[in-house]
Amino acid sequence: MKVEVYEALNDNYNLANYDDAVKNHNWEDIEKNFSWSETGKINMAYECIDRHVDNGKGDKIALHYKDQNRQDSYSFKDMQIASNKAANVLKNKANVKKGDRVFVFMPRTPELYFSLLGTLKIGAIVGPLFEAFMEKAVKDRLENSEAKVIITTNDLVGRIPKDELPNLEHIVVVDDEVSDEYIDFNKEFEKADEKFDIEWLDKEDGLILHYTSGSTGQPKGVLHVQEAMVVHYISGKYVLDFKEDDVYWCTADPGWVTGTSYGIFSPWLNGVTNCIVGGRFSPEGWYEFIQTYGVTIWYTAPTALRMLMGAGDDVVSKYDLSSLRHVLSVGEPLNPEVIKWAHKVFNHRVHDTWWMTETGGHMIVNYPSMDIRAGSMGKPLPGIEAAIVDDQGKELPPNRMGNLALKKGWPSMMRTVWNNQPKYESYFINDEWYVSGDSAYKDEDGYYWFQGRVDDVIMTAGERVGPFEVESKLVEHPAVAEAGVIGKPDPVRGEIIKAFIALREGYEESDELKEEIRKFVKEGLAGHAAPREIDFKDKLPKTRSGKIMRRVLKAWELDLPAGDLSTLED
Ligand code: ATP
Ligand code: MG
Repeated sequence: MKVEVYEALNDNYNLANYDDAVKNHNWEDIEKNFSWSETGKINMAYECIDRHVDNGKGDKIALHYKDQNRQDSYSFKDMQIASNKAANVLKNKANVKKGDRVFVFMPRTPELYFSLLGTLKIGAIVGPLFEAFMEKAVKDRLENSEAKVIITTNDLVGRIPKDELPNLEHIVVVDDEVSDEYIDFNKEFEKADEKFDIEWLDKEDGLILHYTSGSTGQPKGVLHVQEAMVVHYISGKYVLDFKEDDVYWCTADPGWVTGTSYGIFSPWLNGVTNCIVGGRFSPEGWYEFIQTYGVTIWYTAPTALRMLMGAGDDVVSKYDLSSLRHVLSVGEPLNPEVIKWAHKVFNHRVHDTWWMTETGGHMIVNYPSMDIRAGSMGKPLPGIEAAIVDDQGKELPPNRMGNLALKKGWPSMMRTVWNNQPKYESYFINDEWYVSGDSAYKDEDGYYWFQGRVDDVIMTAGERVGPFEVESKLVEHPAVAEAGVIGKPDPVRGEIIKAFIALREGYEESDELKEEIRKFVKEGLAGHAAPREIDFKDKLPKTRSGKIMRRVLKAWELDLPAGDLSTLED
């Protein structure tokens, strides 16, 4: 196998000059820099792990892992051996073959990553599941994808209704004591051969099957193929800004696309040291991790940043976070207030990135070299043509709110919705535009501004109001930790704005506070944007990937069925 030095890309893809990069961009030229463009043979796991060993970087740390009970570091060579052993276990004991769907359903431990990479080495398609999924969520996904094998733990195996899943041939359990019904991963891993013949694939062969977060309805099984790595690689370089000595931490779980595209593929394609933190969120634990491991690039989410902000500045000040040099966020709109707070306490501006399960990788982002406009998602990745279009696919002029759309055909675009081709086709207008389902506008300088999900945009007294704008204003109020805003039908105004608010530590709910918050939005944003109704909640309903579920708020309010709740956080 020929190993190409990818660094050649640096020269012809310089984002210090964004406009030039956009003009000179050509996906085909970029693909030429990948060894597989000559051999026709590709495998994500090879490109992530083995390639670095072949290039003499075997001793470099690939993974720092930490949870409450365990702390380990693995070199690229260690990862190569571990993923080979896992591949041997899955191939020889569970009969996994190219194209099979193999699910990982377990907490974040090194074994999850070994077996995920091992699955890829066989050429099988990985399906990651959040460990918190209950039986129905697990069953729906295994059924829809006709999964053959699932890798799990003793705590979770009871949630897999094997008798109802005729295609599921094997359950692999990673644990100390494993029942005879299952394949004992640790025991087999111990004995497995350290060498494995990687299955070479075509760039259109399957890579990963990700179910979407379920914010707007039933989760969709989005299929990505090997070629997606082109976007994972490039965006790692130019958006995450990976350099040889970086220590990178992406806080997302692999049950969500961020936890694979940017928690696994992008950092390892770029050969950087990646960090995985298992266990539960705690502000102290997170800060301590950054301090101890000297994290330089940190990719997290608005919900996490809001929780850190809610925990207070005294907590941050106890830690030395000076190793950080680049902080990014994804998943939800990044409230300007959060950017301001992060700038104050971390001395870094948070760089927002917009994309979705279906796009496979970054689409609209804030580059390290770019002036950040707080509240804007930034500009398209070179090679991505974005636009704001109406429902017929006609482009709208600057500053008009409409459908955020992307010109079809980038390498990491989903290839289908599993077992639901009509759903897949419904994303496109005129076979030209991929329509995201998000509403946004573009300003004169080409920056994109997120307004909300198309379904969530509120029509009140003839005005279109994006819920995000109102939510962001609400979070600026010192009492407000989180806010979710919906349109509530109203005979006079069409809809009125209703806000659900979780208060920060130390604040009590009262009618005076409601009035004060309403006034705050009225004076700071606009009269028509001020919520006419406010409800205080201890917690807002969120998906496992940390997104506020406005459809659940709406269902509560209107006493409607809430729909698929499989991804609701407990
Ligand atoms: P479902 O498609 O099942 O309803 P989902 O859309 O939440 O769930 P994901 O693919 O995980 O599933 O999330 C993508 C969505 O997250 C985007 O369409 C957008 O609404 C939101 N999002 C992601 N990044 C950003 C961002 N930087 N700013 C605003 N919204 C974002
Ligand atoms: Mg979606």
